[in-house]
Amino acid sequence: MDNKLFTPGPINTKYSVKEAMLHDMGSRDMEFLEVVKEIRLELLHLAGVTRDEGYDTVLMQGSGTFGVESVISTAIPPDGHLLLITNGTYGDRIKQMAKVYGIRTTTLKYKENVVPPAEDIEEVLIKDETVTHVAIVHCETTTGIFNDIEGVGLVARKYNKIYIVDAMSSFGAVPIDLKALDIDFLVSSSNKCIEGVPGFSFVIAKNNTLQTCIGQARTISLDLYSQWADMRKNNQFRFTPPIQTILAFRKAIEELKAEGGIEKRSERYRQNYHRLIEGTEVLGLRTYLNKKDQGYIITSFLFPEHPNFDFTRFYEKLHQHGQVIYQGKLSDTNCFRIGNIGQLYLEDIDRLLIAIQDVLTEMDVIS
Ligand SMILES: *Cc1c(COP(=O)(O)O)cnc(C)c1O
Repeated sequence: MDNKLFTPGPINTKYSVKEAMLHDMGSRDMEFLEVVKEIRLELLHLAGVTRDEGYDTVLMQGSGTFGVESVISTAIPPDGHLLLITNGTYGDRIKQMAKVYGIRTTTLKYKENVVPPAEDIEEVLIKDETVTHVAIVHCETTTGIFNDIEGVGLVARKYNKIYIVDAMSSFGAVPIDLKALDIDFLVSSSNKCIEGVPGFSFVIAKNNTLQTCIGQARTISLDLYSQWADMRKNNQFRFTPPIQTILAFRKAIEELKAEGGIEKRSERYRQNYHRLIEGTEVLGLRTYLNKKDQGYIITSFLFPEHPNFDFTRFYEKLHQHGQVIYQGKLSDTNCFRIGNIGQLYLEDIDRLLIAIQDVLTEMDVIS
């Protein structure tokens, strides 16, 4: 049996999802193009928007970062000005992208345990009318914090800015109202809460906004506009698509619907999260974030202060139990992370908790 992945993705997938990959197809096969068409439509349904309302889906080869980079490198015109809000690695990565592409950027950087207040964003927008785009990460996977995409969205809308949301680790498990938040570009990927296998990302965007992006891309392969134009014409990728990943993804969407959609998946993940928090509290583990800011996707735990605790040993011993946790990524605090997304259920969380207890006891960190 495979290990249990308590990570933010790739995650454990259903057997049926893996099984859906047992086919060879050409990238121009009608059968395959139908699958692409279906997925693009299903993703709009999941996002609660329609073609008639002026939204479309663009699939992009590569992991989630490729999708984010396709938006950053394509959406912002040469005279554009990006206001980037960051409180973690994934926000910082957007900053790096903007720098590589020579995009004028104002960055509001916060500590990793702080939810950026929408008032701060408003203050910048009032002071500096040259800002054209606002970008933020929804669930900042660095910590698991849920950022206030509602508050920021309302401000972006009020000042008429293009709004970009990295919803990589939340879409599919956290309800997001694209219309109310007036999101122009929402990015997510195949291997997170939709529970597919890795290989592509997707962008749900407003047609009107996409329309303005023609000729703006600073890259060939990540040109979101050209990818959209081709996909819109005939559901074709411009370059070799990850065929099997896409077949698996269609199955993953089917499984998500069978589970009861975003709401039910959200419920399962929340139950996993609560069980994890209760169980780790009993073991004396403390979380890095305040509970009110902590999302239910992934949680950062402080290293136990006991001198016997050694993360590498802890990780390896858990691994021997078939339980894979995730290392921390914080700038100034020693943490490890435990994700609870993917094919994980309460009994899996219970097994992990027992393994953690066994390993900490073996290490003489707890008795
Ligand atoms: C996973 C993730 C990404 C993309 O990471 P990849 O390694 O490229 O898949 C981007 N943003 C967030 C918030 C993520 O969780």
